[in-house]
Amino acid sequence: MATVTSLDSRKKKAIEAGASSTPAPVDPPAARNMLRNLSPADGEPLTAVPVTTANEVRGAMQRAKRAQTAWARMPIEERAERILRFRDAIVDNADRLVDTLVRETGKPRNEALLHEVLVVADLAGYFAHNAKRILSHQDISLHFLVHRKSYVHYAPKGVIGVISPWNFPFAIPMGDVIPALLAGNAVIVKPSEVTPLIALEAKKIFDSTGLPEDLFQVIPGDGATGQALIEAGIQKLIFTGGVETGRRVAAACGAKLVPCVMELGGKAPLLALSDCDIERTARGIVYGGFCNSGQACISVERVYAHRAIHDPLVRRIRELVGDLKQGDASKSFIDIGAIIFPKQIDVAEALIADAVSKGAEIIAGGERVHRAGNYFQPTVLSECHHGMNVMREEIFGPIVPIQRVDSDEEAIALANDSHLGLNAYVFSKSRERALRVAEKIEAGSVVVNDVMLNYGACETPFGGIKESGFGRVHGDDSLREMCDKRHVNYGRMPMPSRDPLWFPYSSTSYKIFSKGLDVLFHGSGLVQRIAKRMP
Ligand code: NAD
Repeated sequence: MATVTSLDSRKKKAIEAGASSTPAPVDPPAARNMLRNLSPADGEPLTAVPVTTANEVRGAMQRAKRAQTAWARMPIEERAERILRFRDAIVDNADRLVDTLVRETGKPRNEALLHEVLVVADLAGYFAHNAKRILSHQDISLHFLVHRKSYVHYAPKGVIGVISPWNFPFAIPMGDVIPALLAGNAVIVKPSEVTPLIALEAKKIFDSTGLPEDLFQVIPGDGATGQALIEAGIQKLIFTGGVETGRRVAAACGAKLVPCVMELGGKAPLLALSDCDIERTARGIVYGGFCNSGQACISVERVYAHRAIHDPLVRRIRELVGDLKQGDASKSFIDIGAIIFPKQIDVAEALIADAVSKGAEIIAGGERVHRAGNYFQPTVLSECHHGMNVMREEIFGPIVPIQRVDSDEEAIALANDSHLGLNAYVFSKSRERALRVAEKIEAGSVVVNDVMLNYGACETPFGGIKESGFGRVHGDDSLREMCDKRHVNYGRMPMPSRDPLWFPYSSTSYKIFSKGLDVLFHGSGLVQRIAKRMP
């Protein structure tokens, strides 16, 4: 967990802030707090990072506004071309980014490469190549006011704020930064206090491509820094984090009337139907439950297994978990890395104790691993039910609880018995049956016979319903929503100087309009056909 400390000795502060040889950005070194994190992989201290003060956030905002004005004037093709340069620099620096991600989060190298670097590089390419099409003018044909025409065009909003969590500390913020920039905005990112280093690494790469440096800024800090960002005058916020933080952030945005996207928690159910491929389903559960040590908002957090396949499925899951290699990802290629901070291990232990006290059986794992860093065994629980906290609360750790069910309907009802609705998974050999079930599940996305991958499909909308949040990232609409949608209406032909619909009113014009209303809605033929197209 990050600690924020204020140092007493002015000299020590200046050195740690890197201010001994360079001038302090705005506030004097005496006022500086620092983020001091330990690597989850081995418990060693990571580079300390100065906390951005509210004053500095306001300064960042002013610089971002200035940079944005010039950037927005640039043709979209040119913006796209520059973003592609940034994408290429990300790819060129992939190993450096992976090293930082592994040290800062403890996640396996393969996941850092595929789920973070590759996802961002691919998203940058997709949106850069499609931004012009997505943001082109859209004509709207008018069914009633046929003498006029309308279109909408998309204008950059200004400065977009991004507040992000620690679990995908590169993919999540950069997946918002790139569309925001392409749309002609400036962006300020407030990374999680637990993972500032990877955001600063991204910023370094951005600056190395010659893009205007104030266009994309990173303001390390904690909740207070995030609050300062909301208050600094941003035109939109993309927030990703927990439900309770989300409530506070949405309230702060409401107070300033800042539009926001809320990407909050998840409790993804996996429904293993009676005709599922047991081998693929077991592997999907193990991968979806334990990649990133279960610390994903779309992790498999609960399994509903049909009675017909329950026992062989559980046996196979136990075997597969036994083969997983766990350890320090900075030293070797392991499957399961570390847990971000010790508090998360306490949460896992409490959930397991509650479940076991109510009848759950531990099929695999169940204990913390005693070694340097933060580790917890991948854990599988069977005989679970909704009286247990583990089936209802977000786990965000390497625990997969399994409940036996008797029908598709029971699985659907249990899947929907949750305050969260982000992702869900259905496994069945019948596509028709799986799709029928999928459409009944209350979730932003449902994936059939696969797990986790939809976040990497950047042309599809991603986001939750219920308390998992509102608004969407990814998908063509998310790029449009980085803009103000502006409507323009104009006449198809020259208009008369005296418009009969305008003043002066008279009893004669009232009678004409009244007759018109009657003909329109009670008439026949062409008029009636026009009326039927009216809302
Ligand atoms: P968190 O809510 O603790 O913090 C998220 C961010 O909010 C951090 O940067 C934090 O500093 C900032 N913050 C805290 N208080 C604030 C305030 N008052 N004003 C402004 N900013 C504030 O979440 P976390 O522990 O970093 O991440 C884990 C949570 O994120 C889980 O619940 C997970 O499900 C969720 N998450 C959701 C998605 C999604 O796309 N829906 C993706 C990843 C993670």
